Amino acid sequence: MIDHFPESSLLISKEDLIPYSFDATATFYHAPLAVLFPSSIEDILWVLKWAKSNHACILPRGSGTSLSGAAVPQKNSIVLSMTKWNKILETDPDNLTLLVEPGITTQVVQEEAAKYSLFYPPDPGSYKISTIGGNVGHNSGGIRGLKYGVTRNYVLGMEVVLPNGQVVWLGNKCVKDSAGYSLKDLFIGSEGTLGIVTKVLLRLIPKPQERQVILASFPTLEAASEATSAIIKAALIPSALEFLDQKTIECIEAYSPAGFPKESQAVLLIESDGHPQAVRDEITRINQVLKQYGPLEIKIAEDPKQQEQLWSARKVAFSALARKAPTVLLEDVTVPRSSLVQMIRKIQQISKTYAVEIAVYAHMGDGNLHPVFLGDESNKDLMEKVFRAMKEIFLYAIKLGGTITGEHGVGLAKKEFLAYQYKSEEFQLLKSIKKILDPENLLNPGKIFD
Ligand SMILES: Cc1cc2nc3c(=O)[nH]c(=O)nc-3n(C[C@H](O)[C@H](O)[C@H](O)COP(=O)(O)OP(=O)(O)OC[C@H]3O[C@@H](n4cnc5c(N)ncnc54)[C@H](O)[C@@H]3O)c2cc1C
Repeated sequence: MIDHFPESSLLISKEDLIPYSFDATATFYHAPLAVLFPSSIEDILWVLKWAKSNHACILPRGSGTSLSGAAVPQKNSIVLSMTKWNKILETDPDNLTLLVEPGITTQVVQEEAAKYSLFYPPDPGSYKISTIGGNVGHNSGGIRGLKYGVTRNYVLGMEVVLPNGQVVWLGNKCVKDSAGYSLKDLFIGSEGTLGIVTKVLLRLIPKPQERQVILASFPTLEAASEATSAIIKAALIPSALEFLDQKTIECIEAYSPAGFPKESQAVLLIESDGHPQAVRDEITRINQVLKQYGPLEIKIAEDPKQQEQLWSARKVAFSALARKAPTVLLEDVTVPRSSLVQMIRKIQQISKTYAVEIAVYAHMGDGNLHPVFLGDESNKDLMEKVFRAMKEIFLYAIKLGGTITGEHGVGLAKKEFLAYQYKSEEFQLLKSIKKILDPENLLNPGKIFD
């Protein structure tokens, strides 16, 4: 390999490999053999062949912000960093599509769409650095999932290098396509285990004309959860419906003050967007529902600047909590929205039973909760309790008809629990897809399942 690639595209020194030995998930670490920045499809094909004959494997990687350990190397991994593949290849306003390379950041995609008064809704908290390749790898969501869906809903096509060296194009610019199985969908959420994505065709939509943001604070977590379930039951679908508990509010206010009321036990941050009249109507109806659940205060952001301030503060929730303990683990269970109150109560009870501090923030409108475990890797007893508490939360979410991960993926962190969610024949079906596409286990082995 050293002879084949220029020094500028290959990292092999111990120090250079350190930043590629972990992702944003605490507790997982393994150094790769090397990091390659490919400059062409030929480079990718060459390294695939090399890996095959040298008992190595390939880990496609974007910015390494995965929260499930999916971007952490395993034994004999070559990291294939796609971050330099960051070009916009075609903006097509006639068809409302955007063709990009996988290393482009979500933010740049959003900005490109905005130049044409268009909108790319997927909005993970990491949007400033996360790549479209990584978003596809995890089928990432974010705060707008409730009304607009997740990455899968905006991917029309992609170019993929398969483990056997074939380069395939899946999908097209058509709004409808029922020609056989939707192969592109197999690769969305596949965590780099089935193919290396080298181009992505994205769907754009018209930019909403107006938006309004409500901040509602509540005396209890239950009241905020009940209000959320009631909003959904009233068939109101705001563009965002986020929840922050008191621990999270406190940390945000200490890190980047935005005026979240520190005395409340929970707040809901709700956004409505669309035609101005529709936004006004929706805000009025949401307000009526909120009032039935005893809010301490309901405030409407006064102007776009205040709206932005509230959203920026929400987006730093994880970073703010990360300062609170030496080891912070962010989880991602999702439940049917009618079960939110039960799930929130269970998390509180588990926190007490195991004496583990758990903060919660959530894409509440999606039923997607992020319990954040405040741990310390140097304290073995505490970490054991953290993992037992986590397992109990996963199992309870499954019992409620939910999932162990709404948007962060399985990776290394949750593979132990995946078999609880699937029946054995379903689990085998999942594994058989990997076997067909990657029989030699060349791509990101050990992720999702062994
Ligand atoms: C502060 C913070 C906030 C976050 N907020 C959210 C949120 O709101 N919603 C959400 O869903 N996630 C969130 N995340 C998680 C994370 O940012 C997303 O999963 C993101 O999509 C990962 O992008 P990345 O470029 O960092 O990918 P990486 O972490 O590098 O990779 C993620 C996965 O994609 C695969 N992959 C990457 N590129 C390719 C490629 N070209 N071909 C094939 N496979 C590839 C990798 O192998 C890996 O399995 C957050 C993370 C942080 C740190």
